[in-house]
Amino acid sequence: KVKKDKMTILVLGLNNSGKSTIINHFKKSNEQSAIMVPTVGFLIEQFYNMGVCIKAIDMSGATRYRNLWEHQFKNCQGIIYVIDSSDRMRFVVVKDELDLVLQHPDLRNRILPILFYGNKSDLEDSLSNVKIAAALGLENIKDKPWHICSSNAISGEGLDEGIQWLVQQIR
Ligand code: GDP
Repeated sequence: KVKKDKMTILVLGLNNSGKSTIINHFKKSNEQSAIMVPTVGFLIEQFYNMGVCIKAIDMSGATRYRNLWEHQFKNCQGIIYVIDSSDRMRFVVVKDELDLVLQHPDLRNRILPILFYGNKSDLEDSLSNVKIAAALGLENIKDKPWHICSSNAISGEGLDEGIQWLVQQIR
């Protein structure tokens, strides 16, 4: 088991999916213990909150840094994969990126929990969790515990429920 102070969680997702908004929510929930770290290149945010290191990576904005951010896989204990549930046009890209993550040599044989946020669930044309899971083929993930949560990163709805599941899986 991994100790809490050794925990690194990666927040992955396409640009505009809501990563920064989600990160801001978690920073605010414990502002005093959050320590910001200046970020370079592929990282959009990195901070420590009560010993948990949370790093957000923009997959679409940083293809040329791909090798650098994939390097982070080795040392992470959990992944948050943020999906804009209203962005149907890019579901194929979301699936391709997810498959690359799942097949990555540093992750393939690890029991690493993955939390999916079906974000922007407040938008009228957002897809349900069931439809997102089907579109991304989540039922094919057999070697890792995963969980999908609807979220509205602006109001904060669903975010805490999701992170609680993830942290429980890691402890
Ligand atoms: P990032 O590029 O993944 O970091 O995405 P951002 O956090 O910058 O969010 C992109 C845009 O979507 C911003 O205008 C956010 O205000 C908006 N946004 C993020 N989460 C939600 C949500 O749950 N609902 C709605 N309606 N808008 C959201």
